[in-house]
Amino acid sequence: MISEKDTICAIATGTGSAGIGIVRLSGPDSIGIADRMFRGKRRLSEMNTYTAAYGQLVKVNGPSEGEALDEVIALVMRAPHTYTTEDVVELSCHGGPLVLHRVLEEALKAGARLAEPGEFTRRAYLGGRIDLSEAEAVMDVIAAESDRALEASLRQLRGSLRNAVTELREKLLYETAYIESALDDPEHYTLENYGDRIRPILEESRLRIRRLLAGEREGRLLRTGIRTAIVGRPNAGKSSILNLLLGEERAIVTEIAGTTRDTLEEKAILGDVPLVLIDTAGIRETRDVVEQIGVKRAKEALETADLILMVIDAAEALSEEDEALLRSLTGERPEAEGPEDGAELSGRNEAAPILILLNKNDLATVVSVPEIEQKLETWKSGSDTPVTRVLEISAATGEGRDSLAEAVRGLFFAGTLSDSQETYLLNARHTEALSDADEALGRVEDSLEAGVGEDFYTIDLLAAYEALGRITGETLEDDLADKIFAEFCMGK
Ligand code: GDP
Repeated sequence: MISEKDTICAIATGTGSAGIGIVRLSGPDSIGIADRMFRGKRRLSEMNTYTAAYGQLVKVNGPSEGEALDEVIALVMRAPHTYTTEDVVELSCHGGPLVLHRVLEEALKAGARLAEPGEFTRRAYLGGRIDLSEAEAVMDVIAAESDRALEASLRQLRGSLRNAVTELREKLLYETAYIESALDDPEHYTLENYGDRIRPILEESRLRIRRLLAGEREGRLLRTGIRTAIVGRPNAGKSSILNLLLGEERAIVTEIAGTTRDTLEEKAILGDVPLVLIDTAGIRETRDVVEQIGVKRAKEALETADLILMVIDAAEALSEEDEALLRSLTGERPEAEGPEDGAELSGRNEAAPILILLNKNDLATVVSVPEIEQKLETWKSGSDTPVTRVLEISAATGEGRDSLAEAVRGLFFAGTLSDSQETYLLNARHTEALSDADEALGRVEDSLEAGVGEDFYTIDLLAAYEALGRITGETLEDDLADKIFAEFCMGK
């Protein structure tokens, strides 16, 4: 087990060359260790918190002791008001990988230990400065690739999820404490008509939990990007649309190489929403592929897609191929096209909405929005028909890109991003905890229905309380004891 009393050290800035790079130390001896390496007008140990000093870093021992390592600014931050709640020193060095590694090595020789991944944040959590949901948000802030994801993670870092969870927990704890006090001390606390009192609290809490859970998809999509498949017949303009989406953001998007070249995915930011464009290799290669609609890859892309963009060349009359694809996507299977096509697309994610893009809007067009909408209306196969919208666009001029962005936001983030207070970057741990809490509250409702004794309620109320506490990383017993004494047993 690693002691929390030791002093840790790491290069805090990215790899590669840059103007400045930071080596960060945290722990009780961080100022002492930095002082051993630092030569400036003053000793760091004499400096106030949040002050910086200019000086030289030198080697601390061995044959080349005293040899200059770099010219730095040392920033001293004293416990407890620091990132980790411990003494912290940040050494702003020249940002070359070699310089930074030499400074790090010297700090290790001077007595620091190399930090484990995330250990600074772990110390912030153990030091009680942030809860688990905030610690997780730190990573989300760093990983954010779109403005929306960044906003949501920053909000979470400021405690949005913690506040939501804490509020719920307080209510549940109060009720538990009340029941327990009443069972202990029936003279002062009554459980008469208690069901009427707790029923609305349960309903409200479950509603709140479900609302939090409903934001799960938004959070996931913001974090990972909306998986988007682009389909359409050859020459409809798929690769042109792909390039339009990759567009200006190209410089800062990264290519995700899949397991094989066949599944190349690329990230794009549409408006402020991140997309993951799937099977981009397939789209780029369409010209070489003979059977272009029914290819296996396209099928795989459709299976995992959150969103389907179907591209139609609006400058030419709708072809049979267009119609067959449209029909298989929007409901009915095509009858005349042989068993192949329908079967090929049947594995797609049925819930994925479809945006039909009437492309080449800059030319004289012969396919119109109402024409497609009318066809969709007649093909509609029932309530499970996926959400489908028709938009005009020009991959050549970029016209329609904004309406596409608007449509995507409307489909995936309606009502959450606009008043985006409700978008939380929930992870699997959070959703599991919320579901457990919801189930436990459901059991309390069942107990109410069954008319069993109140002591049965507390078991499940506490289970919900505990489940929610897993989100923030809090413990149970001490809180409960404190609460009971503070609120109910004063003066006894
Ligand atoms: P894909 O086979 O579906 O990937 O289609 P491409 O993106 O390769 O486009 C086929 C042809 O249509 C190319 O010659 C493109 O330059 C052209 N094209 C694509 N989009 C547009 C558009 O919006 N306007 C015009 N005028 N031409 C386009």
